[in-house]
Amino acid sequence: MDNNLNPQGVPQQPVQPQYIPQQPVEPQAQYVPQQPVEPQAQYVPQQPYVPQAQYIPQQPYVPQPQYVPQQPYVPQPQNIPPQMGPDGKLIYKPLDKRLIKSCRHKAEKRWYRRLFVLNILIIVIAIAYFFYSMDENKKYYDNMVDYYTATIEEAQNKSENGNDQDTGDSAEKKENDKKESLEDKINDMPENLEYLIAIIFTAIAIPFIVSYAYAQYRSMSVRITEKNYPEIYAIVEEFAQKLGMKRVPKVYMVQGNGVLNAFSSFIPFRQYIEIYADLLEVAYREHHDMDTIRFIIAHEMSHIYLKHATMHYYYGMMFSQAIPILGPTASRAREYSCDRLAQLLSGSDGIDAMMTLIAGIHLYKQVDKIDYLQNALSVNGFFVFCYNLVCSHPIMTKRILALNDPMKRSGQLY
Ligand SMILES: [Zn+2]
Repeated sequence: MDNNLNPQGVPQQPVQPQYIPQQPVEPQAQYVPQQPVEPQAQYVPQQPYVPQAQYIPQQPYVPQPQYVPQQPYVPQPQNIPPQMGPDGKLIYKPLDKRLIKSCRHKAEKRWYRRLFVLNILIIVIAIAYFFYSMDENKKYYDNMVDYYTATIEEAQNKSENGNDQDTGDSAEKKENDKKESLEDKINDMPENLEYLIAIIFTAIAIPFIVSYAYAQYRSMSVRITEKNYPEIYAIVEEFAQKLGMKRVPKVYMVQGNGVLNAFSSFIPFRQYIEIYADLLEVAYREHHDMDTIRFIIAHEMSHIYLKHATMHYYYGMMFSQAIPILGPTASRAREYSCDRLAQLLSGSDGIDAMMTLIAGIHLYKQVDKIDYLQNALSVNGFFVFCYNLVCSHPIMTKRILALNDPMKRSGQLY
């Protein structure tokens, strides 16, 4: 079949390619260089006006004596945990010597030097006074020789004459009168000799006096040992090790009829501590307060460590420490040193220990410490100053404020 025929048999025209009109070329958008846009002054909305804080001249700062509660005392990092020894006992490392030294009150050594110089001066003056009064002393010596010669002669005469009362009555009377007048002269010792003898006698007597006192305490006390009050003995051993002491000082407990006290003292070449029984009750009775006991023992051991309780230290200020105000001031500096070292040793702030001395061993825990410290700041004035000046220990308010000082500075001496 012919494909060019439609179904009716009509021949089909060949299909002409149709003219397709072209789309007119649209002109391309030409690049027109733009005029530079001149910046228009734009309106910038203003910030609303905020009045500035004005400078107001301040009143000069007047520090108020207000008490700011202090951070509780944190034991020093030097308190290295103890190690167990071969016999099961704890062994403590000695503390850093510089740290111990830093506890000393800044005026302590200075005051000791002053008293030492004064002490020498007193002795030198007494010797100089003796040589200055040599003529008077010679006369006194001659009178003394005459008196004893007369006494010996009288005794000899008596033995030679036997019971013969009649012979030489008047001569004997004369002798007696002479002897009596000599006796009066001997009784009236020159002042310079009195001073010199007192100095020499005291210096020689001290070792005997302290040994006698030690004998008295020892015979009336209980010695604290590993078996007697072992908890207390363990504290003493701990502090002796921390202080690097070669010998653990002997500690005694004595009954003090309600007196709250503890002290360290010495005999030649040795020191000891005496604690009054009533004070130890805080550890063993209602409060079981070992911290307070630790502080008290640490304070006394500090006196030993810092050589306050030694014979040579005592000799150095034997006479000058009796001078009012000067002696007590040196002593107050020593107390501050030992309080500070006791804090380091015991890890306790020591305020409770002081409270036992103020409020007593039964009530000291009831004292509000913040309130006490606030009031302590107001305990001052001329008469408080005078009282503190003659006290061998700092007055309690000053002492407790020093214990509470977080900067651990030297306490106030005056
Ligand atoms: Zn003391």
